[in-house]
Amino acid sequence: GDGYLDSVTSPLPALSPSHRECRWSDTSSYAGKKKLQYWCQLPSGNWALGKILSTSGAESVISLNEGNVLKVNTESLLPANPDILDGVDNLMQLSYLHEPSVLFNLQYRYNQDMIYTKAGPVLVAINPFKKVPLYGNDYIEAYRRKSTDSPHVYAITDTAIREMIRGGLTFFDVVGESGAGKTETAKIAMQYLAALGGGSGIEYEILKTNPILEAFGNAKTSRNDNSSRFGKLIEIHFSETGKISGAKIQTCKITCFYCEVVQCAEGERSYHIFYQLCAGATPALREKLNLKHANEYKYLKQSNCYSIAGVDDAERFRMVMEALDIVHVNKQDQESVFAMLAAVLWLGNISFTVVDNENHVEAVEDEGLTTVAKLIGCDVEELKLAFSTRKMKVGNDNIVQKLTLSQAIDTRDALAKSLYACLFEWLVEQINKSLEVGKRRTGRSISILDIYGFESFERNSFEQFCINYANERLQQHFNRHLFKLEQEEYIQDGIDWAKVEFEDNQDCLNLFEKKPLGLLSLLDEESTFPNGTDMTFANKLKQHLNSNSCFRGDRGKAFSVCHYAGEVTYDTSGFLEKNRDLLHLDSIQLLSSCKCPLPQIFAVNMLTQSEKPVVGPLYRSGGADSQKLSVATKFKGQLFQLMQRLENTTPHFIRCIKPNNLQRPETYEQGLVLQQLRCCGVLEVVRISRSGYPTRMSHQKFARRYGFLLLESVASQDPLSVSVAILHQFNILPEMYQVGYTKLFFRTGQIGVLEDTRNHT
Ligand code: ATP
Ligand code: MG
Repeated sequence: GDGYLDSVTSPLPALSPSHRECRWSDTSSYAGKKKLQYWCQLPSGNWALGKILSTSGAESVISLNEGNVLKVNTESLLPANPDILDGVDNLMQLSYLHEPSVLFNLQYRYNQDMIYTKAGPVLVAINPFKKVPLYGNDYIEAYRRKSTDSPHVYAITDTAIREMIRGGLTFFDVVGESGAGKTETAKIAMQYLAALGGGSGIEYEILKTNPILEAFGNAKTSRNDNSSRFGKLIEIHFSETGKISGAKIQTCKITCFYCEVVQCAEGERSYHIFYQLCAGATPALREKLNLKHANEYKYLKQSNCYSIAGVDDAERFRMVMEALDIVHVNKQDQESVFAMLAAVLWLGNISFTVVDNENHVEAVEDEGLTTVAKLIGCDVEELKLAFSTRKMKVGNDNIVQKLTLSQAIDTRDALAKSLYACLFEWLVEQINKSLEVGKRRTGRSISILDIYGFESFERNSFEQFCINYANERLQQHFNRHLFKLEQEEYIQDGIDWAKVEFEDNQDCLNLFEKKPLGLLSLLDEESTFPNGTDMTFANKLKQHLNSNSCFRGDRGKAFSVCHYAGEVTYDTSGFLEKNRDLLHLDSIQLLSSCKCPLPQIFAVNMLTQSEKPVVGPLYRSGGADSQKLSVATKFKGQLFQLMQRLENTTPHFIRCIKPNNLQRPETYEQGLVLQQLRCCGVLEVVRISRSGYPTRMSHQKFARRYGFLLLESVASQDPLSVSVAILHQFNILPEMYQVGYTKLFFRTGQIGVLEDTRNHT
């Protein structure tokens, strides 16, 4: 079916336009009917099916299908859908739309490996955590020929391709928690695009960007063995005939991540590429880079985890090298890349020794120091100096400050992180050059956004703060599109439509973005104060933001934000430090004086990214490098660039759901799924679309499509008169449709009977 078949959908509970609240818990008219089944919430929070045995007063005795008998509040029972609706492929078809029915329907399908389900315009994908037989050429062919229409990434990609060929920009917004399957889903969409739009050969290059970006940008975390530590937008361009002509990748990264280069928790790993290099480099490369086994590098050693079950790092390294060949990174550049990786690893092994009685330190001239100097192409002495001193400007005087152990370690780690961050950016740039869209742009493209989903943990820090801010922005895009545009369309067409109420999150975005008194501005301001601490930052927030309804100051260093997906409490510990870009200008200067090309390029890039380009001698003034962008501001800039690309594109929404936290197949945890459905707006979409008029057609199209079914001729042949006559002939109930100025609007499930008749005539 097309998802709107009358024969399966029972009539809606009476819904007039003013009756817009299709409440989840509206059971009053159904409770008490013994023959029906009801959903009953167990003390565990899970829902179970049962039948009412008796009702007295406000309480009912319910016999659960699984055996137990329970006394519950009658009001809390929710009616179950008839069996015939079990496992429908679009949640909109459910007669009773409430949390347990949605949860059950998804679970029913998941149990049969039907991991895709539509929720109106949104595709819900549940991670199977195992190989499911849904992909490959046969399936691609089936969706291309439209011989199947069950929900699938291929199906929505196919729709997108057709839209795009008609001339336009389309994009996929893939969202979900860590481990929910965003990256895999994005790859599945790319696979379909490559199959249908291939031919020029550039599609192979595009597909090969995945193993490269995953090697350099993904790491094993406690939640996902292949977790993307960056957000990505890939824009794939097409010719007029629908052939891929090029692509462009844009990334969005918080460069202070917990599982970043220099810091990893027990059982997690740093970026895959480090382990791949250590395991897979040829003997010649090993010798050239003075490579050791991964467990000899301090940065990799701290988490005590070197391998991933089922993954051969050496083999992956060969695949990455091959992919680099394919995207035209030449051998010499590849070697420079590997040298930078080795330099990062060796930086971690540099140690320090106290040189005076004021605890000032100097780097020990050992294998670490000499290897780093060799790999980046600088003097050992220069490198030593960069780790033991810092140039300062005090008043009009330039002075040289000596570093203590912790300052020296910070300087070293900041250099390692920055080298890696620059390397990643440089690599993306090289890939983009290789994939570059020719001069002749056709204005036809499909973009895929794979970005961190909303996060809410027991303890939330700076990273969650940035990620949730980004999601708040994306959510607005989602809202605006699905709800606002929908509503505007009704109003524009003169439909009697009591406004659809949707949560607009502009207040929350203002809380973040307002200048000078918003979360980001205040954070940046406090980060530049030499005496600013996490506590003074928290106090400042409370002082200035308490009047904002989305903000709540909490005890001590904490504050809470009311996000669209729920309230999150942030602990400001470490906020300022993480927000400051710790790389000192001395280090940039060191890189710019290196003899190897990459460090020089990195130094230039770092300087051009500063707010004010620095010229002349690099001296710092004040406590922090005030010229440099803060981490949060840089992230916001990348996010805005990304959002700009999405302007004027038609979105398609994919919501990835993780059915359990164990990365295990055949395990569906209701509570966990429910929370994600709420966070990514699926429940809201179902509710709103269902209470509106999701099917619409212009008068002309309607008259053309069904006019021939008319049994009696109509006096006037204008499309509107013909349309109205059709509606009457087919007895479409007045509350099931509305006639707009240009279009007809139908409630879910109304077109089915017309289509059936048409197909059998
Ligand atoms: P993160 O935010 O951490 O990057 P993610 O949402 O990108 O997470 P993925 O890396 O795409 O998550 O998926 C995690 C794992 O789940 C994959 O490595 C794979 O094992 C499994 N997985 C995801 N989607 C599918 C699928 N369609 N079929 C089979 N396995 C899948
Ligand atoms: Mg990912």
